[in-house]
Amino acid sequence: MKIGFIGLGNMGAPMAANLAAAGHAVAGFDTVADAPDGVIQAGSAAEAASGADVVITMLPNGAILRAVADELIPAMQKGAVFVDCSTVEVDAARAVAAQAAAAELGWLDAPVSGGVGGAASGTLTFMVGGEPAAFETVSPLFDIMGQKAVLCGPAGNGQAAKICNNMILGVTMIATCEAFALADKLGLSRQSMFDVVSTSSGYSWSMNAYCPAPGIGPKSPADNGYMPGFAAELMVKDLGLAQAAAEAANADTPMGAAALDLYRQFVEHEDGRGRDFSAMLPRFESRDRST
Ligand code: NAD
Repeated sequence: MKIGFIGLGNMGAPMAANLAAAGHAVAGFDTVADAPDGVIQAGSAAEAASGADVVITMLPNGAILRAVADELIPAMQKGAVFVDCSTVEVDAARAVAAQAAAAELGWLDAPVSGGVGGAASGTLTFMVGGEPAAFETVSPLFDIMGQKAVLCGPAGNGQAAKICNNMILGVTMIATCEAFALADKLGLSRQSMFDVVSTSSGYSWSMNAYCPAPGIGPKSPADNGYMPGFAAELMVKDLGLAQAAAEAANADTPMGAAALDLYRQFVEHEDGRGRDFSAMLPRFESRDRST
């Protein structure tokens, strides 16, 4: 397939490189980064999109997506599919989807889980919103960049799935970290805590697959000085999107709101910026009820 790829940052560059390595003709554009090996450097987003069967964007936020879409949509050929893999507001995805439909283009919002490691190894999970026909066209590309793609319903539903998943992740990581810090103060070893919880009703992905305690459980950023991994500021972004969506939909999400407050405090006023989101454990470790 002929593919345009816009946004060649930490995630986009390895995703585009994997598509090129699989034999697709990929033209890439980024305002800052150069195209990775195998990807043809385009001079603009419109140039990368022109004549492409599928155009993929991997951008920082919804405002940038909207601006780039205004440039891309008129440059795309009718019948081509616009796939946005960025994490953005549900409303932004639905607005750009409507613009794409009006221009007779297919649309998929397809945010990802799996981080930079998953992008490099081609093992991302795609949560997809859009029409089944567009999903079928793009599925072979999802298979190259990822291990699983789930069609969640119409446009915007991929973003809805992403923010609900990450709201659970933020909340369970905080709960896991505060419980480890409590266990420390109660004299319970971290290994015992892991052995019990990972096989009991407190288990979660945060405990079992991404344990925030160094030296316990499978290898995770905790074993690498809490280098991200998934940076705490990205968790602030996703929890902020979840709260914005909850407000718009009038949904009561007190735990999501509390998780956003804690991660924002950690990133903006403590030492969380640039650290993995599991570094909540040393944060709780260094505090007591009065701090
Ligand atoms: P990044 O900042 O490394 O990459 C974004 C790229 O977009 C940058 O290279 C930037 O120069 C480029 N860009 C900005 N404006 C542009 C424009 N107008 N035209 C062309 N290029 C432009 O971010 P990232 O870590 O690659 O994340 C991308 C998206 O994926 C974000 O929405 C993020 O929330 C989401 N995401 C990231 C991770 C992760 O672990 N990094 C995990 C899941 C989802």
